[in-house]
Amino acid sequence: MLRNTLRDLLKKIGEERGILLDEGMEKEILREVSLWLEPSIGGHGFVRTEDGSLTFLSAKYGEPYHSLWAGAVKECLLKFLYPSNLMEKSKCKRELFILDVGFGLGYNVAVTISEIRKLNPHTEINIVSFEKELLDKIHLLNEPYRRFHKFILEGIPKFEKDGIRFELLLGDAREEIKEVDKFLADAVFHDAFSPYRNPELWSLDFLKEIRRLIAKDGLWVSYTSSLPVRKALKLLGFGVGSSQSVGRKRGGTVASLSLDDSLSQEELRKLEASPYAIPFRDKGLKEEPLRILIDYRLRVEILKMAQGGIEPPTPRFSAGCSTN
Ligand code: SAM
Repeated sequence: MLRNTLRDLLKKIGEERGILLDEGMEKEILREVSLWLEPSIGGHGFVRTEDGSLTFLSAKYGEPYHSLWAGAVKECLLKFLYPSNLMEKSKCKRELFILDVGFGLGYNVAVTISEIRKLNPHTEINIVSFEKELLDKIHLLNEPYRRFHKFILEGIPKFEKDGIRFELLLGDAREEIKEVDKFLADAVFHDAFSPYRNPELWSLDFLKEIRRLIAKDGLWVSYTSSLPVRKALKLLGFGVGSSQSVGRKRGGTVASLSLDDSLSQEELRKLEASPYAIPFRDKGLKEEPLRILIDYRLRVEILKMAQGGIEPPTPRFSAGCSTN
C-alpha cells in the first residue's frame, strides 16, 4: 500500500521534473525511502526510559519522543540545555529567549526553566513553542522538574507569570512560524521527530524561517547529525559543530550564525562529498512530507549518477543547493 503510494508519487515528481526513471533506479529509490520510513520501534503509549523518566512512543511516526537508551531527561540536559549555552548566558543576561520546535511532552521547556531558575532565580524567560498535536494526557516529570512542568502544562497555551512568558503555537509549525516576529532567540531547541520521518521541519526552507528568529550569537541545537540538515544549516550561513553523543553512536548538532564550523575533517568531507548532503526542499512550506522525502531522494540519485560519470536523465532539473 505504502509502496504503491511511494511509486505513484515518485512517478509524478519525476514527470513534473521531466525525468524518465528506469526500473532499476525506481526500485532503488523506493527501497531506500521505504527503509527510512520503517518504524524504529513498535508500540504506542508511555514507556520508561533508561534514566527512569517516561516518554511516549508514537505509532504514527514509529519512534519515541525521547531516546529510550539515553533517558528522556538526560537527553533534554545533554542534547539541548547544556549545548545551548543558556546556563552560561543566564549569568550575564537578565532575559532569555527560546524557540522550541516540537513541544511534545514539554520536557525540554520544563527542564530548561527549572535549571536556569535554580542557577539564577531572577532570569526572565521567554519561550515560544511549536506543536502540531498535543497529547491528551502528559505525565508530570519527577522532582526537581515537576513544579515547572506542572506550571507550563497548566498555563498552556499562553501565560505570563513570575517572569516567565510562554506561548504554545498549536498547528503546523511551518504555518505558525510565519506569524512570529520581533523574536530573537538565544537558543533554538530543534526537536522534531527524525529528519526522514518528519522532513517538513528539517527543510532548508523551514530552517530559513528559524534563521530569521535567531540572534546573531544564538545557538541552534538538536540531537540529529543528519547530512541534509547540516547541509541546509551551512547553506544558510550557520557555522556547524557536533554536540556530545548520548545514547546514540553519533553526537547531535550545534549551529550558530556567529561561529565557524567545528566539525571533524571526516564530517566536513562527508558534507562536501556525499550525494546525500543536499537539503530537503519545501519552497512554499506546505508540501506533503512524503513528497519532500521523495523529491530529496530523486535529487540524490541525480547527484549519484553525476558523480559516477553517468549523464543525468534530464538537463531541465538541477539537484543543486541554492537557498532561493
Ligand atoms: N521536545 C519534546 C519534549 O521535550 O517533550 C519532544 C518532541 S517530539 C520528538 C517531536 C514533536 O514534534 C511531536 O510532539 C510532534 O507532534 C511535533 N511535530 C511534528 N511535526 C510537526 C509539525 N509539522 N508542526 C509542529 N509540530 C510538529
